[in-house]
Amino acid sequence: MTTPILEARDLSKHFPGPKKLFAPSPVVTAVDRVSLSVMPGETLAIVGESGSGKSTLGRLLLRLLAASEGRVFYQGEEITHASGTRLNQLRRELQIIFQDPFASLNPRMTVEQIVGEPLWLHQNMNKADRQHRVIELLQTVGLPAAWAGRYPHEFSGGQRQRIGIARALASGPKLLLGDEPVSALDVSVQAQVVNLLESLKHQLGLTMVIVAHGLAVIRHMSDRVAVMYLGQIVELARVDEIFDAPLHPYTQALIASAPQMQPGAQRTTPLLQGDLPNPASPPSGCRFHTRCPYVTDECRQIEPINQVLEGGRQVACHRWQEINRDRSVIQIAPLSAAFLRRRALFEHAATHSTPPARNS
Ligand code: SF4
Repeated sequence: MTTPILEARDLSKHFPGPKKLFAPSPVVTAVDRVSLSVMPGETLAIVGESGSGKSTLGRLLLRLLAASEGRVFYQGEEITHASGTRLNQLRRELQIIFQDPFASLNPRMTVEQIVGEPLWLHQNMNKADRQHRVIELLQTVGLPAAWAGRYPHEFSGGQRQRIGIARALASGPKLLLGDEPVSALDVSVQAQVVNLLESLKHQLGLTMVIVAHGLAVIRHMSDRVAVMYLGQIVELARVDEIFDAPLHPYTQALIASAPQMQPGAQRTTPLLQGDLPNPASPPSGCRFHTRCPYVTDECRQIEPINQVLEGGRQVACHRWQEINRDRSVIQIAPLSAAFLRRRALFEHAATHSTPPARNS
């Protein structure tokens, strides 16, 4: 059996809430007892509304944040408390692409300095080798080598995101976390960056974790999807299962809330109502009960356990079987060639210890 490249076991993160004058500060649990694994070569998407804890979970997995409780494993080795040299090695192998290409690049540094910094920090490369490698990296992300001497303000949003990707690739990572990697970009540019990430993943044999709220991006890029609500994973399944036949009422509502591509098409699922409850005082029982159209007294009082179904699919809802018995399955277009290619890669990775040839 293949060892996951990253694994979280009962991971939690607490933050102090806003200060109160005559009362103790509340504790906000941004991530609450989350367990999941990321297999080599796959793209796992973590999806949810703003405030669901998905970005915090991504940062916990990469050890950019320290966990309050629980454990993190990288290739079978526990890294929950890694520090010093080991943490530096992990920084090389686990890289992040930030959401905002405008804020994530130092405006006082040239592209050559930005992309070359990890080469100097992690590999102690001399200047000539560094310049050569920066040019290679710029060409890999589709930017001309002649632009190495320019500053970030001279680039468009999509080009800056390409610089951010080149910087993330500089240290030779095994896993890339994209924290909303295209949500700050124009729609016309999003597809180009998504396609670039796809092609880099195949060329370099990378594993990816994509944190996003845009369902179109997730459907295009991911192999499996973890749906988060108020710090917990409520459903985890293959991307085709999530979009064809979501089991959890929250996943169903999220998909139903996405813009309809067919004018006049009937919605079969109620849309999501209301806002996310305050994470400092989450609802009792099932956290989704204040917005769920299928709520019962049991839901208000008892927290649903995460049920693992055949094939590894997971759902945390008391009534998922009842709700889905008569529900018509949401119809989607046939699976794309890109998805089938990714699934083949993932299935190969799950049964072999070595990745397939890069061009396969
Ligand atoms: Fe809705 Fe109850 Fe299921 Fe929660 S446990 S999602 S409230 S049906």
